[in-house]
Amino acid sequence: MKSTLLFISLLLILVALIVENIFREAKNIPSNTNDPFNSTRAYNHLKEIAKERHPIASEANKKVQDYIVGQLKNIKNNIANNTNVAMEIVDSDDTELLWSSNSNEYFKSSNVLCKVIGKNEALDPSSPSFLLSAHYDSVPSSYGASDDGGGIAILLEVVEKIVSQGQPSYTLIVNFNNGEEFGLLGSKSFAKHQWFENVAVFLNMEGGGTGGKEFIFRSTNAELSKLYGESATHPTGDSIGGDFIRSGLIRSVTDFSIYADTYGIPGLDIAFVERRVFIKNFIPFRF
Ligand SMILES: [Zn+2]
Repeated sequence: MKSTLLFISLLLILVALIVENIFREAKNIPSNTNDPFNSTRAYNHLKEIAKERHPIASEANKKVQDYIVGQLKNIKNNIANNTNVAMEIVDSDDTELLWSSNSNEYFKSSNVLCKVIGKNEALDPSSPSFLLSAHYDSVPSSYGASDDGGGIAILLEVVEKIVSQGQPSYTLIVNFNNGEEFGLLGSKSFAKHQWFENVAVFLNMEGGGTGGKEFIFRSTNAELSKLYGESATHPTGDSIGGDFIRSGLIRSVTDFSIYADTYGIPGLDIAFVERRVFIKNFIPFRF
């Protein structure tokens, strides 16, 4: 009897979650007045990124790559005129990755990498750096606005904001990676890049739904979660998503797995997960 009640309860929760996901209305973008994060500019990035379906190796994917590189170069040119911040851009990383040790199959990276040199690295080239990561490829069936165009748009805006404030204390590396949707290839190949050697901590930005608030759903340790909680303006997080992924109830992987599980780098996985029913499908994102 108990197990029947439990089953019915779980079923009701599941139905409620599905209904809530389907009928939730898209929220308006908040006003940009006095917002230190320029959400209008980030939103314009997103509209460019999500114009077409852009899976890896497609023509549209190359256009998105060119757009990201163009935006980074604009940022670099602007700071060259105004500040002494040093910024390096890798237009299309060509790190090669063996698919497996006993086969001849390999993958050539096309990640876009960006590094903002911190005061620490200027003193010591082996100083630790902070990694931000998101993927710019979509699945073939989707425009990839939420997965993971939103992450890319945010990171472009973050780079612009960081460099506008002068040289950061610690080096910031951003991996706009390509090929996450086909076996986490973007993060796997970045792990072979020389910049990865000094990465001490990371934050991975993902899209697990098509709306809602960004929240931390996986963390490598409590200290890092606490630090995020103390630093973020509106920190949100829970451990349920991570538990579901670990248990196999949610069959989902992100680049967090490569950075944290394979290479043992401390880090956080952040995503929005509401209206998950629309992710990775043919329905255009509702702007
Ligand atoms: Zn994704």
